Amino acid sequence: MQSDRERVVVIGAGPVGLCLALVLAREDVRVDLIETLGEHNFLEQVPRAGTNHPATLELLDRIGLYAKMEPRGIIAPLVHYWDRREHKRIAEFDHRHLKDETRFPYVLQCERIKIVEEALELAKAHPNIALRLEATFTSFMQDADGVTATVTNAAGETETLRGAYLVSCEGARSIVRKELGIEFEGFTYPDRTLNIEVAHDFREHGYTERNYISDPDEWSNLFHWKGPPDRWRIHFPTAPDEDEEALVRPEELQARLQRFLPTGKPFDIVGSNLYIVHQRVAKKFRVGRAILAGDSAHVNSPIGAMGMNSGIHDAFNLAEKLVRILRGEAESEVLDRYERQRRHVAISHTQAQTIRNKRLLAEKDPAVRQRNHDELRRTAEDPKLARAFLLRTSLIQSLREAEQIL
Ligand SMILES: Cc1cc2nc3c(=O)[nH]c(=O)nc-3n(C[C@H](O)[C@H](O)[C@H](O)COP(=O)(O)OP(=O)(O)OC[C@H]3O[C@@H](n4cnc5c(N)ncnc54)[C@H](O)[C@@H]3O)c2cc1C
Repeated sequence: MQSDRERVVVIGAGPVGLCLALVLAREDVRVDLIETLGEHNFLEQVPRAGTNHPATLELLDRIGLYAKMEPRGIIAPLVHYWDRREHKRIAEFDHRHLKDETRFPYVLQCERIKIVEEALELAKAHPNIALRLEATFTSFMQDADGVTATVTNAAGETETLRGAYLVSCEGARSIVRKELGIEFEGFTYPDRTLNIEVAHDFREHGYTERNYISDPDEWSNLFHWKGPPDRWRIHFPTAPDEDEEALVRPEELQARLQRFLPTGKPFDIVGSNLYIVHQRVAKKFRVGRAILAGDSAHVNSPIGAMGMNSGIHDAFNLAEKLVRILRGEAESEVLDRYERQRRHVAISHTQAQTIRNKRLLAEKDPAVRQRNHDELRRTAEDPKLARAFLLRTSLIQSLREAEQIL
């Protein structure tokens, strides 16, 4: 039996908390995994992430999660860039350019909800993970030997849990980050993004499984998800002052979709929601024995599909270091390296690239648009440039670069 000094308390059974718990558990570390949702509402979460890049698939394969996800997802080697004004494809990138770099030269379109459902089953079955659903983390304290987390359980009682380390995987509203007084540096876009889910095969109109569509007035992303029924998720920008209720009225959604693709027939809309986009990185990823990972530590626009992916990379990086510390093979200072490596990726890769991606799609200046499109075309047509582009977008480069940081 391990003592509390060897246990890790993980807050949040999202993709990051679950991956962290599974990696630690496989290395014989005991984990208390605390999740505010319960069996009755765990699968009722709003649609969010879903594009899993090659670098992430390699990691998920190590914990047996890839094999569970592949049958529930869509293998997508291609990504398109489109010009909506001209209704023309600008460029097609093929992940098969990465066949010598990864065992997974494609992205897997598999939604966050399916990932957490499968990962939760693996966590439940693992003897080293004590999963507490319907348990809400409220506060914590730390001392020289460990951390004490306070949790309100399903019965409404207050419990305390003791561990050597506490990892906040609670998402963007992290209580741990706030209690530690860590600044969440960055900005929030004034416009909200509208997400519409449609059962309609956009491949009939030339699109592929993943499409980034540039337009000076109304840029979009269009992605395919496996059903039944198969769905396509399309994102549109909305003006900051537009009324929320009006934006999601069925006739408004239909009109917007008809402007995007005039079929003359009503679309089969299966859902819609609005979300706010933040670009922020925590000033510190650790204070003593309390550590931030995933959206607790950094948030970004979904254009480029990097939030969950880079959060999962945090989890694997951190797990390896915690295991070494708990086995007595490393000092706690290795956690400073976690911060150096993952903050660097968050700032120099994830933030930089997602901000650039939005600018590229929304660019208004015709000359700059033309230049951007020409460059994309040139990059896609040159195998060497295309490979370099895909190494960046598939997050392989950011993992390699982080490894060089001591
Ligand atoms: C529309 C949209 C599309 C996106 N698409 C992509 C994509 O394709 N690829 C990608 O990489 N990223 C994408 N993202 C980002 C991605 O969804 C997030 O980065 C990812 O979900 C973060 O994972 P996480 O585990 O850190 O946090 P979360 O997914 O937010 O999970 C946090 C968990 O903690 C629990 N929790 C919170 N507070 C408490 C508490 N006090 N006590 C106990 N439990 C608590 C929550 O219930 C939740 O289960 C997208 C985001 C949006 C909005």
